[in-house]
Amino acid sequence: MSPTISAALVESLFMNPAPMIFGAFGPAIAGAVIAAVTRDLFCWLCVPLFIVVGLARALQMYRYKQRNSRLTVEEAGIWEKRYRIGAIAYGIALGIWGAAVLLRTSDPAAHMLCVTTVVAYTSAGVGRTFGRPQIFRLQVLLSIGPLIATLMYVGGAFYIALALLSFVFFGAIRHLTSSLQRIYVNAWIAKEREAALAGQFDTALNNMPHGLCMFTADGHLAVMNHRFIDMMELSEDFVQSGASASDICNACVLSGAISAATSRQILSEIENSQAGDIITNDPDASRNRSLSWTFQPMSGGGTVVLVEDITERRDAEARISHLARYDELTQLPNRVNFRDEIGRLLATRYGSEQRSALLFVDLDQFKQVNDTLGHPCGDQLLCAVAERLREMLRPEDFVARFGGDEFVVFQQNIHSHEDAAGLARRIVDRLSERYKIDNHLVEIGASVGIAMTAPGVSADTLLKNADMALYRAKADGRGTFCFFRDEMAQTVEARRILELDLRKALANEEFELYYQPLINLRSGKVTTCEALLRWNHPVRGTVSPVDIIPVAEDMGLIVDLGRWILRKACMECMKWPEAVSVAVNFSPQQFHQRDVLSEVRYALEVSGLPAHRLEIEITESSLLHNTQLTHDVLSQLRTLGVRISLDDFGTGYSSLSYLHNFPLQKVKIDRSFLEGIDSDRPLTLLRGVARLSADLGMSVVVEGIETNEQLELISADGAVTEAQGYLFSRPVPSVRIRQLLNASHGRRTDEQLHVVPSRSIA
Ligand code: C2E
Ligand code: MG
Ligand code: MG
Repeated sequence: MSPTISAALVESLFMNPAPMIFGAFGPAIAGAVIAAVTRDLFCWLCVPLFIVVGLARALQMYRYKQRNSRLTVEEAGIWEKRYRIGAIAYGIALGIWGAAVLLRTSDPAAHMLCVTTVVAYTSAGVGRTFGRPQIFRLQVLLSIGPLIATLMYVGGAFYIALALLSFVFFGAIRHLTSSLQRIYVNAWIAKEREAALAGQFDTALNNMPHGLCMFTADGHLAVMNHRFIDMMELSEDFVQSGASASDICNACVLSGAISAATSRQILSEIENSQAGDIITNDPDASRNRSLSWTFQPMSGGGTVVLVEDITERRDAEARISHLARYDELTQLPNRVNFRDEIGRLLATRYGSEQRSALLFVDLDQFKQVNDTLGHPCGDQLLCAVAERLREMLRPEDFVARFGGDEFVVFQQNIHSHEDAAGLARRIVDRLSERYKIDNHLVEIGASVGIAMTAPGVSADTLLKNADMALYRAKADGRGTFCFFRDEMAQTVEARRILELDLRKALANEEFELYYQPLINLRSGKVTTCEALLRWNHPVRGTVSPVDIIPVAEDMGLIVDLGRWILRKACMECMKWPEAVSVAVNFSPQQFHQRDVLSEVRYALEVSGLPAHRLEIEITESSLLHNTQLTHDVLSQLRTLGVRISLDDFGTGYSSLSYLHNFPLQKVKIDRSFLEGIDSDRPLTLLRGVARLSADLGMSVVVEGIETNEQLELISADGAVTEAQGYLFSRPVPSVRIRQLLNASHGRRTDEQLHVVPSRSIA
């Protein structure tokens, strides 16, 4: 039982002071009457006893009522004890008096009055003491117990019957007390539950983010929470006021929270008694508040009105939809927005004489600005570009940023290609003018691809065409513009088909490796065979790696393809004489992939090839980027035992610093050096490079030796150590190279050179 209910039960003992006080003096009066009539002294003595105990209990009652605080559990215990003492005292007094009257007097009327008084007093106790049935039972025992015992003792049919009836009667009212207590306790439990529910409802009501009002069926306010009062800037008095819906709406209009029109709308919704919602805007435009009102009819009539402040949500939605359609940096429309807008314009222009052009603008050297001056400067530059483009265009033209350094312009209502070309020229010129960004003078360029509208053309096709034209403009040397032409689409389509074919080829193992030997000029023996990719396409025939590798690089397929080539070449080399190594070409991307080292390690492991028999050919472009990383990877490969050779030396930057800075073991001088070798200058150049490389401790190979004259010229001064070319052998399939190596292995130098001429293989 909760402490509150225990306290309430004690409180019930003191609930009705009047019946108890008057009840206490009833036996005193009856006692006085009996004592006077029977003249019994002992009976007289009982009268003051009733008065003293009665007064003490009345005083107790009075003191209890004087308290004005809520009864605590401890206090309840004390007061219960006091009440029990009073009740016991009175019970004893009644018991003694009852027994005395029955024993000391012989007047049946006195006996009748006595029994009636005791019974009446005790039964009245049911209504007073039900809160504590133990006290009631004790009191009954003390007062009725002696009375029944004496009745039995006096004897006689009437007295015994009276005693038995009293016994049964008190048994019944004892039961009644317990029932009363149960009812009282249940009432208290229900009250407590109700109070808790009301408290929870109140908390929920006043802590909800929505304003809430409940109106009864006759349109009067039943409930209003504080949030509603705050939102509408009303006085707190409204909560308890029972005001009508129209009073409340008027007050809201007066406080400036809603307009008179909104008030009318709200009242009609409440009167409608149907579910609905409306959105209202604040009459004070500077506050710019939006409220969402929901009206919900209640089952027994009446309406619940919920109000939500949706200003932040509305602003956030507006921001999100702006972000979804505009570029955050430059505030220009974005790709989605542009596409929609152009789609709409193209649809409305259908059939019109006027033409339009779509110009795809791409900035040249923007990446360098980003890399060297940092992203914040890059961002400022993009904003400056956007500003220049905006300034250059007419109001009816449309410019958007597609992300990165790509901008797109839609030039409307033009008469000819020349108008579009004029704009493209102006864009290239204007964007190429210097920019001042954070005290840096920045110069970039721009390339433009143009697609002209044609009847029925879609926005996507226009964009695709302009993109193709841009690709061409960039290929043409950047800083220029180019119109889309149909053959561009064909080239792109051909390339797309090639890409598809390449993917299939890797899966279907349509690739093959050919091998071309490198000959040591002193021993005349084959030292290394270079693995060269071939693609045997059912329709295209044998496709050259010059056509495959760049496409595979663009597609990112080179990593998978390169892995296949490396493993295949290592396995093939295991079938050759031990003195012969294999050289594998690596593309820059492949070389910069994260796990190139583990790739190489794995290929060696699965094939069982010793690392010193593998040579990796890299080009200068591999060394260009990320120099430190490149250097580290090369050093690690070197530590593994793999040899690195620099391929096609002389075709790129030919920086001599590469020869010095990177751990290279071999330099392959490109065959372009052989052009015009019979004249003095090229030969001097070739010999110079060869001598320098040899002095740096590297083997020197000359590629593309086709004639004996070339061979003689390059081998004259001894700097060139190896040679490769059709003179010795063209690249041949693996079966052929195996035969060749087995045949030539162990033969003398000059035999070797004659045994392996190109003609004998081809
Ligand atoms: P490269 O690595 O410089 O290979 C030498 C190229 O020169 C080969 O062309 C070879 O057939 C050709 N060649 C050799 N001797 C002579 C000669 O005496 N006269 C002439 N005119 N040409 C000669 P190929 O096989 O067409 O390969 C071309 C390029 O494709 C290679 O140049 C290499 O850069 C690349 N490549 C070939 N296979 C692969 C590969 O598996 N992976 C990678 N990443 N690139 C490869
Ligand atoms: Mg090579
Ligand atoms: Mg080469």
